Amino acid sequence: MIDMEEVLALADQGRYDELEKMGVTIAGDPAGDVTEGWLKAVFTGDKVHYFRKVSADELSKFGRVRRWLSACGVKAYSHDKAPMLLPGNYPRCQTCESKRRRMKRGIG
Ligand SMILES: [Zn+2]
Repeated sequence: MIDMEEVLALADQGRYDELEKMGVTIAGDPAGDVTEGWLKAVFTGDKVHYFRKVSADELSKFGRVRRWLSACGVKAYSHDKAPMLLPGNYPRCQTCESKRRRMKRGIG
């Protein structure tokens, strides 16, 4: 039986290794005003991708809509009620990882 208060307390403290040992996968806090990075998109898959913000010029009843594209080609959107989240202990997308490595070496 998982104690949700303990889980949230550990997440607040950034102790994701311990959460992983407990078998808990959890995203972090809302990412705030970032334009790129390893992010967990709400409603989109079970991994974190390396996303870049591609637009933020639409408005909806949930606030400003931001569209994102990951290094591996995943499209996502966020808005004020469903913001992008910090990765927590979600696994990183391997495709994004390898594309990032190539970009750093300047070969792709
Ligand atoms: Zn990816």
